[in-house]
Amino acid sequence: MAFVDHDLHIHSRVSPCAGPEGDTQLPENILKYAEKNKLHTICLTDHYWDETVSGAEHTWYVELHTQRLRSVLPLPQSDKVRFLFGCEIEMNMNNVLGLAPEHYDNFDFVVIPTNHLHQSGVTCRGNEDVAERAGLWCSRLDHVLEQNLPFHKIGIAHLTDTGIMGGKGYLESLQLISDEEYIRLFRKAANRGVGIELNFNWLNTPDDEMEIHLRPYRIAKEEGCKFYLGSDAHAMFQFEHMKENFQKITDLLQLDDSHKFII
Ligand SMILES: [Zn+2]
Ligand SMILES: [Zn+2]
Repeated sequence: MAFVDHDLHIHSRVSPCAGPEGDTQLPENILKYAEKNKLHTICLTDHYWDETVSGAEHTWYVELHTQRLRSVLPLPQSDKVRFLFGCEIEMNMNNVLGLAPEHYDNFDFVVIPTNHLHQSGVTCRGNEDVAERAGLWCSRLDHVLEQNLPFHKIGIAHLTDTGIMGGKGYLESLQLISDEEYIRLFRKAANRGVGIELNFNWLNTPDDEMEIHLRPYRIAKEEGCKFYLGSDAHAMFQFEHMKENFQKITDLLQLDDSHKFII
C-alpha cells in the first residue's frame, strides 16, 4: 500500500473563493481526478460556518451555511474510490470554532485551519507583524488541541502554506518559532491523535525555503504525529501535478504507512 493514495482536503465550487476558475470543480470531476491518479480515499472539504454558532456575523462565512454545503449531496461513488463528505471550518479571533459540538457527527472528516491569517477581521486584526503572527500560529493551534474534540476525524490544515499568512512574511514567522515550541505543540497533537496535513507546493519551492517548511514536519514526525495529504484544490487545474507533488512531500519526509492518518 502506497502512502500517496488519498487527498483529504478538496473544495468544490460550493466554496466561492476559487471564482470562475472553480466552475468545473464538480464532485463528478473530482472523482475522475481520484480515479486517474489511483487515489482510494478523497474527501470534500468546502468552507463552512455552522449557522447555529454565533461569531461569523458580517463576514463571508454567513453565506457558507449547512444548506449550501449539503447541496452537493449525495456524492458520486465508484468501486475504486471512497468519496467522503467533510468540511473546512474556521476559528475566529475570539477562538470560537464554527462548528457546534453536536454537529461533528454530520461529517466524515473536519479540517481545521489554525493559520487562516489572511482573513482580516475574522481570524485576526490584519495588521499583525511577523512576530505576532508567529505567536498566533502557536496559540491558535494550541487552543484547538486543548478542546474536547473528536480528533480521530480532525485534520489541522496547511500549517506551512505561505499563501495564507502574508507570503514571504509567513516564512519569517515560521523561522521565529523555536524547535522547543514545535516539539511541545506536535507532542500534544500526537497525543490527541489529530491528523497533520501536508499540502503546499513543493514542486516550485526553492531549496532554501524548503528547510523552513520541512522543520516543523520533521519534528512532528519525530513526536509521533500522523499525516495526510491534502491538495486544497479549488479548481481542476490545481490537480494537474498534485500526485507528483504528494510524492515529493512523502519522499522528502520519508513517510511510510506507519505515519499515515487514516479515517
Ligand atoms: Zn484553508
Ligand atoms: Zn481549504
